[in-house]
Amino acid sequence: MAVDDDAYWHPGLETQSRADWRQLQLDLLKDHLRHAYDGSPYYRAAFDAHGVSPESLRGLDDLRRFPFLDKATIRDRQVAAPPFGDLVAVPEREIVYISASSGSTGVPTASPFTAKDFEDWIDYEARQFWSSGLRPSDRYAHALNFSLFVGGPCVLGAQKLGALSIHAGTLPSERLLAVLDQFRATALWTTPSYAWHLGETAQREGIDPGRDLAVRRLFVAGEPGGSIPETRERIEALWGAEVYDYYGLSDIFGSCAGMCVEKDGLHWAEDHILVEVLDPETREPVAEGERGELVLTTLRKRARPIIRFRTGDVVSVTTEPCRCGRTSLRLKGVHGRLDDMLIVKGVNLFPGDVEAVVRQDPALTGEYRLVLDRVERLDRLTVEVEHSQGFNGDPEDLRGRLRRHLKAATGVGAEVALLAPGTLPRAVHKAKRIDDRRAHLWS
Ligand SMILES: [Zn+2]
Repeated sequence: MAVDDDAYWHPGLETQSRADWRQLQLDLLKDHLRHAYDGSPYYRAAFDAHGVSPESLRGLDDLRRFPFLDKATIRDRQVAAPPFGDLVAVPEREIVYISASSGSTGVPTASPFTAKDFEDWIDYEARQFWSSGLRPSDRYAHALNFSLFVGGPCVLGAQKLGALSIHAGTLPSERLLAVLDQFRATALWTTPSYAWHLGETAQREGIDPGRDLAVRRLFVAGEPGGSIPETRERIEALWGAEVYDYYGLSDIFGSCAGMCVEKDGLHWAEDHILVEVLDPETREPVAEGERGELVLTTLRKRARPIIRFRTGDVVSVTTEPCRCGRTSLRLKGVHGRLDDMLIVKGVNLFPGDVEAVVRQDPALTGEYRLVLDRVERLDRLTVEVEHSQGFNGDPEDLRGRLRRHLKAATGVGAEVALLAPGTLPRAVHKAKRIDDRRAHLWS
């Protein structure tokens, strides 16, 4: 394939062979494990306890002999060795920046960066933005939280790329719409739920986003919606814009993978992050394309190396060639959180599977909620949906059609409750879409 240099930020790196990627990762990983072992009391003790050392790694597969890390351990080590924990592998004077996770599940964990870590991160954010079609001629509005949130500094990637960068933050919707209009922003980053909410808010104010605003690219992250084609297409239709999904993790980087202009999966920054997809039960790798838990290892982050972090996200990946010419591993989908995975009538079900069905039906508003209860000791799933404003078809036909589509997509038989538009609560940021009443029924 002829390589058009303008298509890439680092052409040689982004289009190298899979064998070259693996060699690069192996070289980086050997050095990274040595750095973690020498600099971090936690990793030295954990490796010793598992009978492994940096020299145990001869090939990438040997990483499987190294211990896992999880969120609780990061938090515990931070409490035991405040303020940043003993996973840190550099003297504190080398740390120049910290982000902290939202703390929704307890103590916020701090993620420290050296100057080089920060510089590396911003450079590859620029690379990912470039792959999504952002160019120096763009005006980019960053509508994410800046308060300690790892997604905040991603705006500097757009700035490094040369785009005019508007540090909007989390403004009220009406003000954000005014900012987008005033500065004629061409690109915007928010969550999928918020992109939807903001588009509908605009319409209520008499603004047609596709006609009246200049936004032509939306970057979204934080929820699976951006990789569910039906959800993405509805946001695209609402905005008259392209939607690109990004995946980030508070303990690693603001974005770890992002969609290129082909929108066929999210390219990983494989020179910074090594990806494993493991069976949650056996912890062995699943076949390419199969669903498993995402486990991540940093390859360069000096301040706090992250080795084999269990993300709790259930994903699938592919190495099939992408039409854009980039050769990095691609995230095909975040199917849900291991914690959100519902077991209904013995079947693994993710809210995202239901979302795909609900959002492809034009007779519905796209909002939904899953209600689970038990009737005579058996699981019952009710999918609550809203018919669209102008719906004048037969409600029974619509319910029947949805029941069939839900069964085909999920393998689970569900009841459908058809509600009037605007009945279900609108999610402003992270959507809460599950009401599991089954636990109470046993008490
Ligand atoms: Zn691509």
